[in-house]
Amino acid sequence: MHELSVAGAVVDTAIAHAAGRPVSVVTVRAGHLRQVVPRSLRFYFEIVARDTVVQGARLELEIVPGRLGCRACAHEWDVDSPAFRCPRCGGGDVTVLSGDELEVESIEVEEPTPCTA
Ligand SMILES: [Zn+2]
Repeated sequence: MHELSVAGAVVDTAIAHAAGRPVSVVTVRAGHLRQVVPRSLRFYFEIVARDTVVQGARLELEIVPGRLGCRACAHEWDVDSPAFRCPRCGGGDVTVLSGDELEVESIEVEEPTPCTA
């Protein structure tokens, strides 16, 4: 996984949703199977966010556990790594149920201070 390209996509999405408002928090759902290194992603996130409305925003990472399903016998199991073989029937016709996510879940923006004058 290239954290730099992930960071770029995350920042682009946040900028698009912010519509010019300063972003304070960006929450990202990252599947365990994506094997994103949080420290590395934060590092690139700060670099890519520089000089944008996302600069200085906090990056929140939600790691989604990996879960696979076997199409042959319908068995489902949790995985730490993408091992695409069913432990029950040994079949290789396996589908990813979760853990493949990589998306911006939400952003928080700083609303402009209302003019009370
Ligand atoms: Zn199976």
